[in-house]
Amino acid sequence: MNTYYISVGSNMGDRQGFIDGAYAALQDHEQIATIETASIIETEPWGYTEQESFLNTVWRIRTDLQASAVLAILQTLEAAANRQRHIHWGPRTLDLDIIYGLDAAGKEMTIAEEGLTVPHLHFWDRLFVLEPLQDIAPDFTFKGESISERIAYLLTEAE
Ligand code: ATP
Ligand code: MG
Ligand code: MG
Repeated sequence: MNTYYISVGSNMGDRQGFIDGAYAALQDHEQIATIETASIIETEPWGYTEQESFLNTVWRIRTDLQASAVLAILQTLEAAANRQRHIHWGPRTLDLDIIYGLDAAGKEMTIAEEGLTVPHLHFWDRLFVLEPLQDIAPDFTFKGESISERIAYLLTEAE
């Protein structure tokens, strides 16, 4: 079975409700075997900063589905949360990004398709992704660096 890590963010309207609704839909999805969540954190906006604060978390799912099929499900859930795209990195009811994947053998997936890049291009630079990721996957490593080292580095850089 494949494992995917999904970054979750909401900063408009009933933030917790949008997150809970999408989580329940994945729990009920026939082709998704398991889903687990990290703790939810509240973070200040990144990129376009004139907007409400975010709730962020990371989910881990196990499924036989390929990444493109998982992305299609996530996009359906974003649409169900009435997501509208106006400003890049702007306010959104729900953002669900595949940040990282492992195949059945536990090998890192690399995908570079039109509309889908895995690992996600920015995940290793974003504290709002890495803090919940560390909560659910404390032994996570990427490019030979541990997640705790990476978080410490990003916190130093942010000072
Ligand atoms: P960012 O990707 O920097 O977090 P965003 O999440 O706000 O920005 P979206 O508007 O949600 O960007 O998505 C823009 C496009 O990114 C989508 O149409 C999707 O096809 C593409 N995309 C590429 N790789 C991924 C991925 N790993 N997970 C989710 N979407 C992806
Ligand atoms: Mg995103
Ligand atoms: Mg997105």
